[in-house]
Amino acid sequence: MQLAQRLNSVTEPQTIKMAKLSRELKAKGINIVDLSIGEPDFKTPEHICNAAIKAINEGYTKYPPVAGFPELLEAISIKLKRDNNLEYATNEIIVSTGAKQSLYNAVMSLVDPGDEVIIPTPFWVTYASQVQLVGGIVKYVHCGIENDFKITPEQLEVAVSSKTRLFIYSSPCNPTGSFYTKEELAGLAEVFKRHPQITIISDEIYEYINYTGRHESIAQFEELKSRVVVINGMSKGFAMTGWRIGYMAAPRALAQACERLQGQSTSGANSIAQRASITALLGDLAPTYKMTEAFKQRRDYVIGALKKMPGVKSNQPEGAFYAFPDISSFFGKHYGDSVISNAEDMSMYLLHEAHVASVCGSAFGDNNCIRLSFATSMTNLMEAMNRIAEALKRLG
Ligand code: PLP
Repeated sequence: MQLAQRLNSVTEPQTIKMAKLSRELKAKGINIVDLSIGEPDFKTPEHICNAAIKAINEGYTKYPPVAGFPELLEAISIKLKRDNNLEYATNEIIVSTGAKQSLYNAVMSLVDPGDEVIIPTPFWVTYASQVQLVGGIVKYVHCGIENDFKITPEQLEVAVSSKTRLFIYSSPCNPTGSFYTKEELAGLAEVFKRHPQITIISDEIYEYINYTGRHESIAQFEELKSRVVVINGMSKGFAMTGWRIGYMAAPRALAQACERLQGQSTSGANSIAQRASITALLGDLAPTYKMTEAFKQRRDYVIGALKKMPGVKSNQPEGAFYAFPDISSFFGKHYGDSVISNAEDMSMYLLHEAHVASVCGSAFGDNNCIRLSFATSMTNLMEAMNRIAEALKRLG
């Protein structure tokens, strides 16, 4: 069977590859501590689960409206005003099957073949794959650890060309945990104002997992709002990854385009999960804040432990649940007959020799780093950090 050429750009994510490898080792009886996970290790709060059960009993089992139930669109609009001081009418919001589909709808609707899309690296790998799938050209901008992995206005200005159509980033960021302050966003906004052909996709899926106590969205700059697409969803902040509910808030024309597209792809997101999401957004947020507090304690422990390891450099993640240490000082070091030449080698070394699963930074466009998720228990994290520290000492 001959597959369409567009599939050539779509590869298996490294995260999935690592999950497979660690499953294989676990099946052999090896005790692997898995830090490759990209989802909260907490249960969906009970009141949200109960809302789903109620929805089934009330008969919310038919096709929902393509854009989402009006009550959920209203809840999202209220949330955007309450948490972000952003005004979005319900017809500027589209609910989708996870933030991933919201992103895909936006990329499909905005990028023509040959259009350029600026993506600061490290980045969430799906951005580039989606752009390439529709024939767009990704322009990566390398953002090093020295600037907390964040793009500067100067770097952005240099990357812009007459063909630039889109800019995609996340804050808080997967994989670095970096968070753009209001001042930093204002600096980028100044550049965007000079280039009106660019739309900005602001992925805010980690909004609630923020250790600074305050989220900032680039949509807050009034002159820019008509060119911003806010992406968010239930997966991370409400521990609802399997429910598959995400959403976009965007200018009406784009929202309409995405509704048309979605009408011909999924017909709308799961009706029961949508009803539960209304309760999640408007109900008790205490479980969300409690989860974030637990992530913060783990962040403090993991970053503290990494900083004690000679040769390891780390930024201070201000959101999400990942550490992204730079381990490039170990490149060229040996174990047995093997040499660590890049982040992938390090990730494999840690898997096979320390029995800790990580994801190599090249999966996110940075070959000097590895990603360690702290979405696991403190006991697991302590064990993993001890194992990593010992394994690094063995490299000669
Ligand atoms: N955006 C980022 C930065 C993510 O890390 C993820 C999930 O890992 C998503 C979007 C997708 O979220 P969802 O589960 O809502 O599709």
